[in-house]
Amino acid sequence: MVTDIKKNTLAYARAQDEKDVLHKYRNQFHIPKQVNGEPFVYLCGNSLGLQPKSTKAALQQELLDWQNLGVEGHFHAKNPWMPYHEFLTEAMARVVGAKPQEVVVMNTLTVNLHLMMVSFYQPKGKRNKILIEADAFPSDKYAVESQIRFHGLDPKECLIELKARKGETCLRMEDIQSVIDREGEQIALVLFGNTNYYTGQFFDMKAITEWGHAKGCKVGFDCAHGAGNLPLNLHDSGCDFAVWCNYKYLNAGPGSLGGAFVNERHFNDPTIPRLEGWWGHDKATRFKMRDAFDPTPTVEAWQLSNPPILSMVAVWASLKMFDEVGIENLRKKAISLTGYLEELVKSLGEEVVHIITPADPKQRGTQLSIQVKNANKNLFNQITADGVIADWREPDVIRVAPVPMYNSYEDVYHFYAILKNALKKK
Ligand SMILES: *Cc1c(COP(=O)(O)O)cnc(C)c1O
Repeated sequence: MVTDIKKNTLAYARAQDEKDVLHKYRNQFHIPKQVNGEPFVYLCGNSLGLQPKSTKAALQQELLDWQNLGVEGHFHAKNPWMPYHEFLTEAMARVVGAKPQEVVVMNTLTVNLHLMMVSFYQPKGKRNKILIEADAFPSDKYAVESQIRFHGLDPKECLIELKARKGETCLRMEDIQSVIDREGEQIALVLFGNTNYYTGQFFDMKAITEWGHAKGCKVGFDCAHGAGNLPLNLHDSGCDFAVWCNYKYLNAGPGSLGGAFVNERHFNDPTIPRLEGWWGHDKATRFKMRDAFDPTPTVEAWQLSNPPILSMVAVWASLKMFDEVGIENLRKKAISLTGYLEELVKSLGEEVVHIITPADPKQRGTQLSIQVKNANKNLFNQITADGVIADWREPDVIRVAPVPMYNSYEDVYHFYAILKNALKKK
């Protein structure tokens, strides 16, 4: 009986894969191979998701339509390019938990973050600060600092970076609440990564939004590590905006387009400024070209250019799979898969490895960040040579994300066995 098998064995992992109703989706992805022909243990879907096998044919369709139709493809392609972004909207809205009119696939993540800050960071008098996490992703920090300077202000005075307590790596919710309580009247924008890229900590967006709104701040989230990783419920969180990329958990390919969410309460609000372009113009009259700008009454008002179809096609191919599997089902497996990883890693001993990601599944997605005591990069090089693709953060953290769409319990077991072996050699 399965229950008699010890958990730290290949037999146990394989038995879990056999019971896993999502295991069959692994075969719908290209898994990178080692020189010996064996698949890598790929645990880096938090950095670049793998390629769905369906992407190639979908891309070829667009190349063919362009080849055969030229400009006519805007109307006569199998999937006409004119409304192409709309084909993605409903599935994307389901992934991030929003109304379709609140979600659009456009640009890339940092670009969208800037566009959203143009709208939602409006420093006025004493209310001129932005609150972020001290270990926010570098690009977000650069974006925020440059926005502050763009308004003629000084990041040294206007940027509040919330640090974890001494000796801790994750932020405490009560510390987020107290900084907002204390300084909220001076904060124009609260911006958090909804899942921190480094620690894997997932924040309660609804709570942070309520605290920020109670003090009159705008609240936005960078969901780069949340979208496709766990259900986000963006609409119900009440936040003003969110942005994300689609190449991490959403498997849409390197440098793929990003996504943006604007809460519907802002659609016809003349006090919210916006950078504009022709793709944000109301569709019915967009091609009259001489009219004054008449915004689409949805998040699409924030679109600037006609979108790159060859990139959007990969987002769509991936979203079809998310629709088929369902983000709730992925979450269910993720809790179990990451829990299995956690159990095996912990069995290596707290004096050897320490997981900095919260132990509470509600406060994390799939990723675990593993701090290795007295490690250097040799250890990481060793597990790479042994077939693991993961991510190393100086000085001593390995980030691994078993992604429920294509990772197996067997992957998790192999990672554990390879890490254990490398630690012995250390
Ligand atoms: C991955 C990631 C980025 C990358 O930004 P791009 O504009 O897509 O290059 C930015 N912020 C966060 C939080 C990320 O995780």
